[in-house]
Amino acid sequence: MRFAHVLVVGAGQMGAGIAQVIASSGRRVSLHDSAPQAVERGLEAMRRSLAKLAGKGGPDPDEVIGRIAPVGGIVSADLMIEAVAEDEEIKRDIFRLADRILPPEAVLASNTSSIPIASLAAATGRREKVIGMHFFNPVPVLQLVEVVRAAETSNETAAAVVELARDLGKIPAEARDVPGFVSNRILMPFLNEAAYALMQGVAEAEAIDTIAKLGFAHPMGPLALADLIGLDTCVAIMEVLHEGLGDAKYAPCPLLVEHVAAGRLGRKSGRGFFDYQ
Ligand code: NAD
Repeated sequence: MRFAHVLVVGAGQMGAGIAQVIASSGRRVSLHDSAPQAVERGLEAMRRSLAKLAGKGGPDPDEVIGRIAPVGGIVSADLMIEAVAEDEEIKRDIFRLADRILPPEAVLASNTSSIPIASLAAATGRREKVIGMHFFNPVPVLQLVEVVRAAETSNETAAAVVELARDLGKIPAEARDVPGFVSNRILMPFLNEAAYALMQGVAEAEAIDTIAKLGFAHPMGPLALADLIGLDTCVAIMEVLHEGLGDAKYAPCPLLVEHVAAGRLGRKSGRGFFDYQ
């Protein structure tokens, strides 16, 4: 099996979901997070998700969890998938370190929502083996993987990652290495505009989400989706779009920035545009 041992760095909502789908495919996972208890919280989230999926013909939860080993740092593996906070410097440090520790043939992938893959590749001595593997939230449920090739990513690396995505039961789609790629170039300005509509009193939060859900047949409204993604992640992505594309229209809405400054990060902190306590 290709990529029989995968290192997942970051055990937040995305890292935990990625570890779960990789382990569900029969692969061995090493899971690292720098925050105390983050891996334990991630494993708890996986147990809840796997219990739900088991009722719908999913894999045995104990077997899947049994393939995941918590580790205290970057360890050797066939593939790294990095899913830490959306911060270019933090991610570059991880790529620099992984380049020293993982064998030269290993692929280094990032789940970044918006940061150029070329910048992460430049922190390594193996630019041809660095690629974006952008999963969607919740990872065990949503089928898309946006595969992002930087200028120097090799055909072999891209083909291996596309094959892995298919083997995980996902559908890969390729995008160019431009800030935000395709998905967040389109989604994030939509969520940001919903925050402006709320800030400017165009409608109450519930009404904004109802209009999007019923009017556009979206499964959830933009404010609830921003809360699910994490308002800190939304602001970080808007900042990458704003700086990277150099257009004022991508500046994060002040209401989003205010929520993040006050610690209202959405579901993960119990409160964002809506209350989850
Ligand atoms: P999160 O806040 O839930 O988790 C991030 C985790 O990274 C935390 O547990 C944190 O402790 C850990 N971390 C931070 N610095 C670290 C370091 N130096 N070493 C190891 N661990 C570290 O965030 P998330 O929603 O899981 O997002 C993670 C990544 O996935 C981001 O790049 C984000 O843009 C991307 N992403 C998010 C979504 C989404 O819907 N939230 C969707 C697709 C992609």
